[in-house]
Amino acid sequence: MSNNKPRAIVLSVGTELTEGIILNSHLQYLSSCLNRLGFMVIRGIQIPDILGVFKAELGRAAEECSLIIVTGGLGPTSDDLTREAIAEAAGTELVFQQSIWEDLKKRYSGQKIAETNRKQAYIPQGFKILKNPVGSAPGFYGRINKSLIIALPGPPGELEAMYTSGVERLIENLFSLTVEQVLTGTAMLIPESRLEEELQKCPGRSVTWGTRVTDDRIAFYLRGGSEEERKAVFSCLQESFGSLYIRRGDVEPAQLLSRALRSQGLKIALAESCTGGLLGKWLTDLPGSSDIFWGGVTAYSIQAKIDLLGIDNRLVAEYGAVSSETAAAMTEAILKHCQADVGLAVTGIAGPGGGTAQKPVGTVWISFKWGDRKPLCRLFQFHGSRDQIRRKTAVAAFLLAESELKG
Ligand code: ATP
Ligand code: MG
Repeated sequence: MSNNKPRAIVLSVGTELTEGIILNSHLQYLSSCLNRLGFMVIRGIQIPDILGVFKAELGRAAEECSLIIVTGGLGPTSDDLTREAIAEAAGTELVFQQSIWEDLKKRYSGQKIAETNRKQAYIPQGFKILKNPVGSAPGFYGRINKSLIIALPGPPGELEAMYTSGVERLIENLFSLTVEQVLTGTAMLIPESRLEEELQKCPGRSVTWGTRVTDDRIAFYLRGGSEEERKAVFSCLQESFGSLYIRRGDVEPAQLLSRALRSQGLKIALAESCTGGLLGKWLTDLPGSSDIFWGGVTAYSIQAKIDLLGIDNRLVAEYGAVSSETAAAMTEAILKHCQADVGLAVTGIAGPGGGTAQKPVGTVWISFKWGDRKPLCRLFQFHGSRDQIRRKTAVAAFLLAESELKG
């Protein structure tokens, strides 16, 4: 499927790049834009301001792809070589463009314009001007053999403004592109290897997949096949892992919970133990979280659970701080103390110490309570480092609360 896509190369020029002074953010930006349009970016090249290297790379790229975007080197100084390199690689001359010169003079509005700026009014013969809405150097485009070459200026604000204001449309007009359909999903609390294993078992022979793994979730992309086939693979994953852990779209747990609360106009309160405030952090990372988050307490020690939440010390003594009874009492208590609609509590053993045979490290109780209803309590057994266990606890708590809110 992806082999039929037109190929593109992004060639970024600048000794600042090859000396590691700046990061090549144009490559990421343009790769994502071109990928969305239906190109396969086969290479990102970064080269120093050296004419010989530049020409050689252009020549090679022109043989390998149908679109080359060159970034940088369009300024007026002697290290800006893009015009010369492209003209030489295309076997043409640079020609003076009066209209560029007039525009440049206008930009300087009455001030004396340096003669060196005249350089920016030249483009390779047969190439066309690409207007720059925010800077002095225009871009240009034309062909080297069958490849379309588009030259864009280096400053990110100028490059992006030019891309969105005209270059994207130009590319769409010059190529017949078919946009690939992708079904995006998110897997949470599932190891990458288990996800891969299950993907291989799911039906849908022509469906391929890619994943992006971050700390707390795996975004996956199902491509190829028909829409029905992609949906079938997705359903198969949901059946294997449960719909709590496999979601549509590239979504984060806090975002899911926030959406569920917001859609019903509800506010949540938290009582956290082993996560030490992580749930509150994740919720308040979202802008506008005061609409859905009442607040919470971090009742870490047993005494804090007794003093801050008013939990009966006999209950903690009988069942332990990590128990469904204590978790339920934490949600009861937090809802009693505040004006929130729903309460969420977590208590567990994050390790590395503190585990026992009955309650090993990673034992976590999560409790959710909605208004006057009975608290719902769930036991989880997580594995990993202290940090991983705490993060998994936060993910599980948010998913559980969200799924309860959605019924
Ligand atoms: P100018 O007229 O500003 O010289 P130019 O088209 O010649 O524009 P360059 O000189 O190559 O562009 O780069 C100008 C600035 O743009 C760099 O100093 C850097 O800050 C930024 N820049 C250039 N290339 C990249 C890149 N690949 N990724 C991120 N930033 C870049
Ligand atoms: Mg420059």
